[in-house]
Amino acid sequence: MSDHPQVQFIERGWLSANMIVLGGDTRGPLVIDTGYASHAQQTLALVEQQLLEHGHTAPRALLNTHLHSDHCGGNAQLQARYGCPLWIPPAEFEAAEQWNEAALTFRDTGQRCERFTPHARLQPGDTVEQGTMQWHVHAAPGHDPASVLLFEPRLGLMISADALWERGFGIVFPEIAPQAALGAAFDEVEQTLDLIQALSPRRVLPGHGPQFSDLAAALQESRSRLAYFRSEPVRHALHAAKALLMYHLLEWRQRTWPELQTWLAETPVQTRLREQAGEPDAARWAQGLVVGLTKTGQVAADEAGVRLRG
Ligand SMILES: [Zn+2]
Repeated sequence: MSDHPQVQFIERGWLSANMIVLGGDTRGPLVIDTGYASHAQQTLALVEQQLLEHGHTAPRALLNTHLHSDHCGGNAQLQARYGCPLWIPPAEFEAAEQWNEAALTFRDTGQRCERFTPHARLQPGDTVEQGTMQWHVHAAPGHDPASVLLFEPRLGLMISADALWERGFGIVFPEIAPQAALGAAFDEVEQTLDLIQALSPRRVLPGHGPQFSDLAAALQESRSRLAYFRSEPVRHALHAAKALLMYHLLEWRQRTWPELQTWLAETPVQTRLREQAGEPDAARWAQGLVVGLTKTGQVAADEAGVRLRG
């Protein structure tokens, strides 16, 4: 819930981004973000339940805030089931339409996403009307250069995707892209935080973690995290390598050392991060990342391999 009967905030685990369902329109609900591929059945069930509760047979459209695998992994199955159109940010429209895997992020991050078809562009500056709601589309670069966020000024609600969580924000992917212009995307993170501050939502529905109303505290935490990364960009690279490995473990639950090494070697962004950090030894790098994750209590490791705790 989001304190508004026409806005359903469905908080999910970290493997699948949160989903938001906007009702209140005779044309059917809008479904924003669709989780990770391996959760597609769960996503279908959640959408089906929303449709039943509100007496609709299909969503009016699916929307993606950006095309990371945890936000668009249910698109294909939802489209197959309901035949509904998909609206995505304009910067990745052609890449998705042609399924250009070099331009899309799935291969680079060693993640999965089933092919889907976009139909319209969520253009920054546009307004998405749903019932009496008017959701303004804003560009939200930083975590992802193509990402958008949605803001409903009358309700004071913001769908922030991975630009702002209650505790921080998503990996700044342009900083770890091939031939990255180091630091440039940190400026975009700051500009997007400034935009969010200026819009001043009363409640934020983020891409991961719980919804929140204390905007000042969230912005302060994100700004201090940004300052930490900016002062020593290798910290961001290490954070990204651990976060992407953690994501991989969320998908697989456990991996042997050889499986883990193979995945790291075959995942381009992981190789770049190891090189950025100046570590030539792949095995030592893998062990270092795992030790980092065991310190936070998220994973356990022994001679056999690595597994999620709990
Ligand atoms: Zn993302």
